[in-house]
Amino acid sequence: MSTSVVRPADERVFWSKSTPFFLMHLAPLGLFWTGMRWRDVALCVALYATRMFFITAGFHRYFAHRAYKTSRPMQFVLAFGASSSCQKGVLWWAAHHREHHKYSDTERDIHSPKRGLWWSHVGWILCRKYQPTEWSMIKDFAKYPELVWLNRYHLVPGIVLGVACYLWGGASALFGGFFLSTVLLYHGTFAINSLTHLWGARRYVTTDTSRNSFILALVTLGEGWHNNHHYYQSTANQGFFWWEIDISYYVLKLLGALGLVWGLRRPPLHVLTSNLVKDHVDIGMHPELAVLATGK
Ligand SMILES: [Zn+2]
Ligand SMILES: [Zn+2]
Repeated sequence: MSTSVVRPADERVFWSKSTPFFLMHLAPLGLFWTGMRWRDVALCVALYATRMFFITAGFHRYFAHRAYKTSRPMQFVLAFGASSSCQKGVLWWAAHHREHHKYSDTERDIHSPKRGLWWSHVGWILCRKYQPTEWSMIKDFAKYPELVWLNRYHLVPGIVLGVACYLWGGASALFGGFFLSTVLLYHGTFAINSLTHLWGARRYVTTDTSRNSFILALVTLGEGWHNNHHYYQSTANQGFFWWEIDISYYVLKLLGALGLVWGLRRPPLHVLTSNLVKDHVDIGMHPELAVLATGK
């Protein structure tokens, strides 16, 4: 792996389009001017957790993988909430993620860490090559005009949220609540593209470098079980066993109980207990553990 490789022009930082991303990193410095109160800290934590849920349960599990079903209004709520994280459009996000799974860690993978940590973390997002939405990968959701509109005007939800923070708590809520949580959210999300292909354990044999990480699962509300996810992608849960904390899935179960989502897909038992890496012991040596874990 090398980060010193000379990249083609369309894979280098596209400065004019990437400037807002860098400015977002400077914006929390406004806290040196306003100070940060406890309510700003609480707002920062709340906005991080809520929007991380929208990204994982919305952009990722629903739009990219169709892991459960919901109504058209709720579908828009998921897209709008996740878009407030300022991670570009819903169709852009989901289409590029589908590409990642299709070509994981091959030459055509858009953000394999085999091309360097910087590239997999943010390099691919900031370059010119991947700015357009890959429409051929997201035809199923591109038929909804409200999603196409939101994909085009993807900054609207973030601006609405930023203004709301300012009106609610003034400049310190804007800097500490909105801007700081947005930056933390960037790197929490991007760590799944970079770190979960580098750090952690592998339970299942896959053709890529995906790994499971307990720490990253906490930080990302369940996305750290990335080896599980690459092994069996279409499930609403990514923590496959009770000890694999997956907060996004728990919230989805709650939304299911309220009738807001339904048809949550889970992996069948035979999938959980097969294709284990050779030296993996927890499920491999104790298949009855999987039965207990899944309650089947
Ligand atoms: Zn995925
Ligand atoms: Zn991956």
